[in-house]
Amino acid sequence: MHSRIARIAQRVLEGESLSPDAASELVAIGGDDLYDLFYWANKIRIHYVGRDVKFCAIVAAKVGGCSEDCKFCAQSSHHDGPAKDQAKLTDDQVLDSALHAGEVGADSFGIVNSGRGPTRNELEDWLKPLMMKIARDGKTRACATLGALTPETAKFLYDCGIRRINHNLETSERHYPNVVTTHPFSERVQTLKNAKQAGLSICSGGIFGMGEKWEDRLDMIFTLRELEVDVMPINFLNAIHGTPMEGMPKLHPMECLKIISIARFILPDKELKVAGGREVCLRDLQSWIFFAGADSTMIGNYLTTYGRKPEMDHQMVMDLGLKWRAYDGGGVEPTSESPTISRVSHTGHHRIPILYEREVAAAAPSR
Ligand code: SF4
Repeated sequence: MHSRIARIAQRVLEGESLSPDAASELVAIGGDDLYDLFYWANKIRIHYVGRDVKFCAIVAAKVGGCSEDCKFCAQSSHHDGPAKDQAKLTDDQVLDSALHAGEVGADSFGIVNSGRGPTRNELEDWLKPLMMKIARDGKTRACATLGALTPETAKFLYDCGIRRINHNLETSERHYPNVVTTHPFSERVQTLKNAKQAGLSICSGGIFGMGEKWEDRLDMIFTLRELEVDVMPINFLNAIHGTPMEGMPKLHPMECLKIISIARFILPDKELKVAGGREVCLRDLQSWIFFAGADSTMIGNYLTTYGRKPEMDHQMVMDLGLKWRAYDGGGVEPTSESPTISRVSHTGHHRIPILYEREVAAAAPSR
């Protein structure tokens, strides 16, 4: 098996795209051969993206009260999760979070809202000045995770100085109906296309451990390759009580590392970001994510669960003899002094409901 992994890896190192058949061969690897898989994934990482690693931070500016029924999510109003009620951070809290993200070395900082997609009021009256300030300050790359985007709302974000959006596929198209029923997979794909069209960098990945098969995992990663994503977040399900996925078993650490490695073989030159579930699923093997092929990880807290202290991740990277690369892109001047949106509704056959037009009280989110 060793020589077979080496031969597949050599072809990737020479610039060949991994075929689905070769990916299936990698899936069949187990036991001690997994260490060879990690070894070659690490070689591919260093060859294509270098030794430095990146951190990314997020803040849940609006949590809960979501109309959608994603079965893993604590924020859905369909379930009884701990963050089902809606709450918003104040502007100062969002801006402080961005400042802190830069201080702890985050390459990117994402403002995250619950909900299917942003409303005009949210974009024009609330988020615009915040996004423009974070982009201008240039302490970290200004990103946003606001749900489904139309061509118009994607352009609006770009005009405000946002340079990357996150919108996960979550799983394969085949497994998707077992996870989400209130909006289609195609809407997620369309959002990524709309964002790319607007000039935004794309961050899209999924959650592993939601009852999917390996063929679903491969399908999703190959779809991400077709969509030419720039960053793939790799989340491991941290089943939250009150959600339909409560009680789902955690993935084994070696299974998590195998997922990272195979993703590196398929997406050799992309940023692979280990995100939610790192602490609870990988446990003592967290530092192995880089040896397994990842080059990026989240720092600080997640949306509705706690991460660990940033200093612990700094120490982990230093102990490995690696360095993290902070954002060096400088400030981004918004395209317009006062960007506006021509319309918000989705151009496809699924309209994004205009939700949350009412004012909600400013309150600290439940986490
Ligand atoms: S759309 Fe987002 S916030 Fe809403 S339930 Fe799905 S994952 Fe949670």
